[in-house]
Amino acid sequence: MMRCSVCNGRGYVKLSKAEVAGRDDCPPKVLEAIDEFYACRSCGKLYWEGPKSNNAFEHFTSVFDGFGPSTGSGL
Ligand SMILES: [Zn+2]
Repeated sequence: MMRCSVCNGRGYVKLSKAEVAGRDDCPPKVLEAIDEFYACRSCGKLYWEGPKSNNAFEHFTSVFDGFGPSTGSGL
């Protein structure tokens, strides 16, 4: 598995969506889209599976911007 980009540590703990929901460091859109998260054992940095780290949030942002109420399917 990847190394932590903050502290270069290798150990991770798996977090459930409910556990991540109680943290302050996960963008809500990511929390909605991802079910499995990991946190660095050393520094606590939060990770999730998907396109490479920082780009993941931009990817999700652009994707979810297309699903706003105003662009819904005729409701
Ligand atoms: Zn770390």
